[in-house]
Amino acid sequence: MRAKLISGTELSKIIRNSVTQRVKVLSSKGVIPGLSVVLVGENPASQVYVRNKVKACEEVGFFSTLDTYPSDISEAELLKHIHSLNANPKIHGILVQLPLPKHIDSTRVIEAIDPSKDVDGFHISSAGALVKGLPGFWPCTPFGCMKMLESINYDLKGKHAVVIGRSHIVGKPMALMLLDKNATVTICHSATVNLKEITLQADVIVAAVGRVNLLTSDMVKPGAVVIDVGMNRDDHGKLCGDVDFEAVSAVASYITPVPGGVGPMTITMLLQNTLDAAQKTLIP
Ligand code: NAP
Repeated sequence: MRAKLISGTELSKIIRNSVTQRVKVLSSKGVIPGLSVVLVGENPASQVYVRNKVKACEEVGFFSTLDTYPSDISEAELLKHIHSLNANPKIHGILVQLPLPKHIDSTRVIEAIDPSKDVDGFHISSAGALVKGLPGFWPCTPFGCMKMLESINYDLKGKHAVVIGRSHIVGKPMALMLLDKNATVTICHSATVNLKEITLQADVIVAAVGRVNLLTSDMVKPGAVVIDVGMNRDDHGKLCGDVDFEAVSAVASYITPVPGGVGPMTITMLLQNTLDAAQKTLIP
């Protein structure tokens, strides 16, 4: 039987509708969730990402700003701007679009964000909270993957989840979130020996590498759930993930498409985190 699709586009609609409703309630109490997106330089991909984020904010009724700076802005100038956003009560979430130009220490910039406004979940406080199982902002991409698993009522308890990729923004936090739900987690990376042997044991596979056709059908156990985080271009310039979608669909029980899968969920969880940050300002 062919795998069922977990559509990030459809799930996003449901979550964004609920965010819109919650924004109305918050606004009636005098709080309009505000997100500030900071872009340095003219990276075309980053420009597309930030435009999509700001547009999504407008659609759910947030207040949002897009602050763009030339690529030669000094680190001190940028830090000054972050401090002013930290102090701005209209802004509940701050997102610095990465990568930053080489002369700027991105760690220093991210660590300058007030943790209560770290809606991207990249601050060391957020990462620490995730490790310790404490409340905090979860990075949007793996958070979106968890929502996708939740949407099919998938019980991770005792399941073997294999995460391919160990970046700070996807692979590592993904593994911790799966662990938090009582999965047995294996993390694979570029030095992993015999990846196929490991993925064949998996009930859930999250592919987050950035390589076309990294996961082929012979690497997937029948009935496994496959989440494709990858964003690549194939030989024809078409957007695709890390998973050989057609062939793996014949083996898996559920699969996420690219496009229309994890991508839209990432922005949706950014909205969710920003809403939560705004909501917290009401709690004395
Ligand atoms: P990254 O920082 O480049 O990390 C890639 C990871 O893949 C690394 O941990 C690397 O291992 C591992 N890897 C490389 N080759 C491998 C191989 N042959 N076998 C197993 N593991 C291998 O990338 P990222 O930021 O995590 O992003 C991963 C992918 O997700 C990219 O395509 C990116 O565009 C996409 N992405 C999508 C979204 C979305 O919203 N849809 C958001 C973020 C990222 P080492 O650590 O050993 O180098």
